[in-house]
Amino acid sequence: MDQCLHILRLFRVGVGPSSSHTLGPWKAADEFAKVLRQKVAQKNGNIQRIEVHLYGSLAKTGRGHGTDKAVVWGLSGLDPEISTRAERADCLELMNSGAIAPSNVACLPKADVLFHHDESLDYHPNGMRFSAFDSEGSLILEQIRFSVGGGIVAKATGERIQSLWSLNLLGVNTAADAVRLAESEGSAFHEWLWAQEVRRVGSDVLDLYVDKIWSTMRRCMQSGLAGEGTLPGGLGVVRRARGLFRFLCGSLDLDHTVTASGDAYGDLWGKLVRRGWSFSEVNDWVACLALAVNEENASFGRVVTAPTNGAAGVIPAVLAYGCFLGGGVRQEQVRDFLVTAAFVGHLFREKATISAAQGGCQAEIGVASSMAAAGLATCLGATAAQSMVAAEIAMEHHLGMTCDPVGGLVQVPCIERNTMGAIKAIAAAQLALRSNPGEARVSLDDVIHTMWTTAQDMDAKYKETAEGGLAVRIPVNLVEC
Ligand code: SF4
Repeated sequence: MDQCLHILRLFRVGVGPSSSHTLGPWKAADEFAKVLRQKVAQKNGNIQRIEVHLYGSLAKTGRGHGTDKAVVWGLSGLDPEISTRAERADCLELMNSGAIAPSNVACLPKADVLFHHDESLDYHPNGMRFSAFDSEGSLILEQIRFSVGGGIVAKATGERIQSLWSLNLLGVNTAADAVRLAESEGSAFHEWLWAQEVRRVGSDVLDLYVDKIWSTMRRCMQSGLAGEGTLPGGLGVVRRARGLFRFLCGSLDLDHTVTASGDAYGDLWGKLVRRGWSFSEVNDWVACLALAVNEENASFGRVVTAPTNGAAGVIPAVLAYGCFLGGGVRQEQVRDFLVTAAFVGHLFREKATISAAQGGCQAEIGVASSMAAAGLATCLGATAAQSMVAAEIAMEHHLGMTCDPVGGLVQVPCIERNTMGAIKAIAAAQLALRSNPGEARVSLDDVIHTMWTTAQDMDAKYKETAEGGLAVRIPVNLVEC
């Protein structure tokens, strides 16, 4: 199913804390190991040693983002969608012990993951080089790959390894083109998008994918609400979602027991959906759910890239607001929300970037908020043009936002930023619904272009290098876990 090229594949199930620094390197390593195994099997050869070289932003914040761990998991053939925490821990134990089982590419010693802090490769700041050597020290295979955001991996030429959905498939080049086509057919935007996709890949594939993505998002929120203690990485950040959840349940006389496993439509969601909600309650719950997802992400939990891991809490929190917290989204509209949000995400991916190493945090939280705003607006009855206005408003007020993770960890300011991205998305959707798109002075296409030029003007220290902003203001003395 996942091999089908469809718009919703912008949403990918993975493991935190970062789509570009964890999931992308993991996938690149997995692909390298597969090719290597084939090559060695064909030639009846042997593998003595594997080196992984990390460059640019991957080197500067790779340790905090678990890049070294991710490449080991990838080389070991673990699947980011289904591997368990125990499997990943076993693999790391092997790495930490310095053990190596090169014939199976099972693992590699920690020392062979090399961080090149002062070097960058051309093409993209998130560069990786994988090299394998035989017992005579001869090079068997070398691959250079780039993690370009959202868990997507590219070759140096810009040719994508994984199949990627493209605007060309709809015959459009801009948001304005898509709105014109949808309106010429008299369709709501999500209906038009869905129909195009159904025509190409069939509704079964899409429906299954929607179920997978939404159930993973719900499970992630539940896991986050159940999680307690301090986040890993040595920064000493205390998880807050659980405590806030307890408080909120208390004020509503709800049972606060929630477990990470089980049916995501368990008692909690069912009870929430029946209540009336005040503005401050909605604010609290949306923040709580966004915190839950990103605390789970920071602790290497399973999340959906939306469009990235660092920004993974925005869309689930807004969708949960829509479905369970009086936001006016019916369950059968989840697909409308996701397909519209995915379209907006692809616009940014193709015309600008969804990589913080290229565009700062506007490319993560900003894009997620823009996607969520469009998704919510369309579900609430916005016209195609109004949905794009919602996306424009949400991004307009994230323009220029820098990426400055303290200690190189996706925790401060990242986790709280998801709450802000979610609240802004709701406000943007509401404002768009009361707006006349014909009077808008700034279009979504304008704001995407502006986001990209701003990204290019932004100093490298604000692009996921942990060399500026809060990352240098807040002193840290990390103890590696
Ligand atoms: S500051 Fe923003 S872009 Fe940077 S790691 Fe955190 S969430 Fe991602």
